[in-house]
Amino acid sequence: EPLTIAIDGPSGSGKSSVSKAVAGRLGIGYLDTGAMYRALTWWCVDRAIDLGDHAAVAIAAADLPLELSADPEAQRVVVAGTDVTAEIRSTAISAEVSKVATNTAVRPILQQAQRDRMAAITAETGGVVAEGRDITTVVAPDALVRLLLTASEDARLRRRSAEVHGSADEHAIAATRDQVLRRDRDDSAVSQFTVAADGVVTVDTSDLDFDESVEAVLAVVAS
Ligand code: C5P
Repeated sequence: EPLTIAIDGPSGSGKSSVSKAVAGRLGIGYLDTGAMYRALTWWCVDRAIDLGDHAAVAIAAADLPLELSADPEAQRVVVAGTDVTAEIRSTAISAEVSKVATNTAVRPILQQAQRDRMAAITAETGGVVAEGRDITTVVAPDALVRLLLTASEDARLRRRSAEVHGSADEHAIAATRDQVLRRDRDDSAVSQFTVAADGVVTVDTSDLDFDESVEAVLAVVAS
């Protein structure tokens, strides 16, 4: 049976780094669905498409010339030949991505693209770890293993701060707080993380370090 693993969670839950490590350990491919929303946002901004024009953004989504590597150790995001791997993580794109992600004409298009991509990666590597916000519920409700990664607000701010500012001191956390809490609020239309959907296993990483989080997920996969 193909090893399809769906992982959802908010930003700062450790979802991306843990998902990549799990895929690496299991020798299967990886799909970062957030990168697809970010790449679409970058493409619209680059082409001066008004993010408030829902129909225009949906057309851009349907035609998005996106290449994503499946290798968890070598993630590359290329749009129309331009490597945007770093740029899609910029604060400018992070601040705008929710506008694209809450566009109800866009979501079904990217969700179908994600299902297709999961199938292609699975055919190639024997499985896939797909992570995002709606993978366990909408994109792949029939995945073999479904997990919700959570963490306390404190733990999430600490991690996000270390990621963005290279530090988790008071100032760095303060600088991160507004941004993270705003995106949580903007994303709340897309997903609520208070409870896992039926059949989804919750892993709380608040008191786990990175290695412990990876082991906790692998333990669920093995069970
Ligand atoms: O995970 P990441 O922070 O890169 O996701 C970027 C944004 O993409 C999220 O803030 C959310 O708005 C959107 N997203 C989504 N559904 C997913 C993955 C990401 O709406 N499956």
